[in-house]
Amino acid sequence: MASVWISVFALLGMAVGSFLNVLIDRLPARKSIVFPPSHCPSCLKRLSARDLIPIFSYLWLRGRCRYCRAPLPRRLLWVEIGSGALFAGLYGYYGISSELAVALFYISLFITLLVIDLEHHLILNIVVYPAMAVALLISAFLPHLEIVPDIASAAAGGGIGLGLFLLIAIASRGGMGWGDVKLAALIGIITGSPLVFVAIFLAVLSGGLVALVLLMLKVRSRKQGIPFGPFLSLATMVTLLWGNSILNWYLGFF
Ligand SMILES: [Zn+2]
Repeated sequence: MASVWISVFALLGMAVGSFLNVLIDRLPARKSIVFPPSHCPSCLKRLSARDLIPIFSYLWLRGRCRYCRAPLPRRLLWVEIGSGALFAGLYGYYGISSELAVALFYISLFITLLVIDLEHHLILNIVVYPAMAVALLISAFLPHLEIVPDIASAAAGGGIGLGLFLLIAIASRGGMGWGDVKLAALIGIITGSPLVFVAIFLAVLSGGLVALVLLMLKVRSRKQGIPFGPFLSLATMVTLLWGNSILNWYLGFF
């Protein structure tokens, strides 16, 4: 029975990933997400239902538009595969529960934020502000869930994320953007205090390591920089899943 549910959540994740691709395409360009219907970015021909089956239509058409053969972005495929795998994984972790619903919402949010930041170096207000409101509502109404901080903890976490990144933004003189400050406030609300410290610590650690490797491989120059938002997004999901264990492990040293 469990394997049936895993497949159901994998398929649900692929379908959600397909929708997230639409958001990722349209939100940075400030286009409507419902109109016009999905179309080829190259020849603008409207896509039919058979072109919109997640993953399979991409593979079947070898990543090209059915009509004009223009290559489609690889990201379409990776977001669908990634969402499918993560939805199935989160179902495996939480089972059918309210925690699962909250976790699926947050993973969808962070996939959207992460990919838009990677592609455009942008963290959009139109994503971050509504997400803050929803996260506060979740804390207000579902504080008994394991992955949800109560409203006081969420407010404190938001303040800590905002304050810390405001200081970093000012000290780094443009090295850290305002988008990252807002994102840090959002992840503070989502994780709450004290877990916000775990999320920021993991983000700084992983971001620093990756930046170091990219600099050493000369893939990136110091001047180009790398967006920090994706590390904050990843660190937040890790913190939601294992934050308490990480915090207890760390506090065990004292
Ligand atoms: Zn086309």
